[in-house]
Amino acid sequence: MAFEGLAERLQSTMQKIRGKGKVSEADVKEMMREVRLALLEADVNFKVVKEFIARVKERAIGQEVLKSLTPGQQVIKVVNEELTALMGGEQSKIAVANKPPTVVMMVGLQGAGKTTTTAKLANHLRKKHNRTPMLVAADIYRPAAIKQLETLGKQLSMPVFSLGDQVSPVQIAEEAIKKAKEEHNDYVIIDTAGRLHIDEELMDELKQVKEIAKPDEILLVVDAMTGQDAVNVAESFNEQLDITGVVLTKLDGDTRGGAALSVKSVTNTPIKFAGMGEKVDQLEPFHPERMASRILGMGDVLTLIEKAQANVDEEKARELERKMRTMDFTFDDFLEQLDQVKSMGPLDELLGMMPGMNKVKGMKNLQVDDKQIGRVEAIVRSMTKQEKQDPSVINASRRRRIAKGSGTSIQDVNRLLKQFEDMKKMMKQMTNMGKGKKKGKMPF
Ligand code: GDP
Repeated sequence: MAFEGLAERLQSTMQKIRGKGKVSEADVKEMMREVRLALLEADVNFKVVKEFIARVKERAIGQEVLKSLTPGQQVIKVVNEELTALMGGEQSKIAVANKPPTVVMMVGLQGAGKTTTTAKLANHLRKKHNRTPMLVAADIYRPAAIKQLETLGKQLSMPVFSLGDQVSPVQIAEEAIKKAKEEHNDYVIIDTAGRLHIDEELMDELKQVKEIAKPDEILLVVDAMTGQDAVNVAESFNEQLDITGVVLTKLDGDTRGGAALSVKSVTNTPIKFAGMGEKVDQLEPFHPERMASRILGMGDVLTLIEKAQANVDEEKARELERKMRTMDFTFDDFLEQLDQVKSMGPLDELLGMMPGMNKVKGMKNLQVDDKQIGRVEAIVRSMTKQEKQDPSVINASRRRRIAKGSGTSIQDVNRLLKQFEDMKKMMKQMTNMGKGKKKGKMPF
């Protein structure tokens, strides 16, 4: 997962100071030394680190923090706020032109994920903002880029404007915008040409496209895995083209985080979106404050809730909640819940968003891989209807049969039955505890 090393180090540093009733200036200095090292190791630009440390130190040593009732927590709050500011503070939204269509020019080096992101962005605009985007294939140099965009467009049932690879990108952009006006597409997203390296020819061509297309937004797509290189690329593109925003791709990988934490400070351009996977729906608006919380192990509950709302049928969730409270919960319900959770995305990604999850003992090494979930699912599906409704009938011979049917071992079956019983017991306790109090809502 992205930021793992950085998150781990920062969290262990913060842990030392968290509960302290008294924090001295020396404590803060010691902590900042560790934070500095952690950031440098995460490949954050050294100038950015220097300024960041100076700001946090100044604020943390300030009277109102050290003399407060909870100095440890106040220091962490300062770090959280400054991390958020480092990544841009407020979320920065995509431009909307006063008069449609809004023209978005996508730029970036080859392999950064520009073509994929073009399609992802169109999908996002349609799904979340009810827009009708048109995609424009103006990357005429990378073999297969046009075909790739056309395939993605077909997959999304979205119009793709192309004039092949023999017409200049400038002309393609011009005609595409004309067509979009005729067809009433309210966004035009132009996939421009990339190169392996920045060169003058590329920049000249992009400037010409910019001149003609008059984009409302120039989004630079950079690969977060390339760390400081991504920041250098952003600096060059910004000097030449005045980009308006950055999309960081491959944040689902194990990037150390340097690019995410440096790009805004170095270029003074906000990160607007983050690519979280190869699929067209794996693009997320970039929220600096949520990212900072994730790095500090405070979780990203807001994103989690949004995912739940987008994927979970509310009626069903309410019914499940009722069953849990009344102890009617069966293995059938369990399967249903498993399906809902699975539809929200990879489990380890979800767990990473839960506050404190990385501190739960054993959690760090727990590989929540889909195979393991698959095994659990296979076991439940090998049960008869009666067994799912009333697991107490599952005797030794039934356990053998279920293990055989699901391709697992009797130990696996036993373990799951025990976990299910424990879960029910826990629910009972929670229900009793909650009696008379206001009802809590189930997270999913
Ligand atoms: P382009 O040359 O910049 O147009 O790059 P492409 O759009 O062809 O992407 C290059 C590779 O990166 C492809 O294999 C994409 O599937 C992959 N890719 C793009 N964005 C992401 C992302 O956010 N996460 C991951 N894991 N892969 C990505």
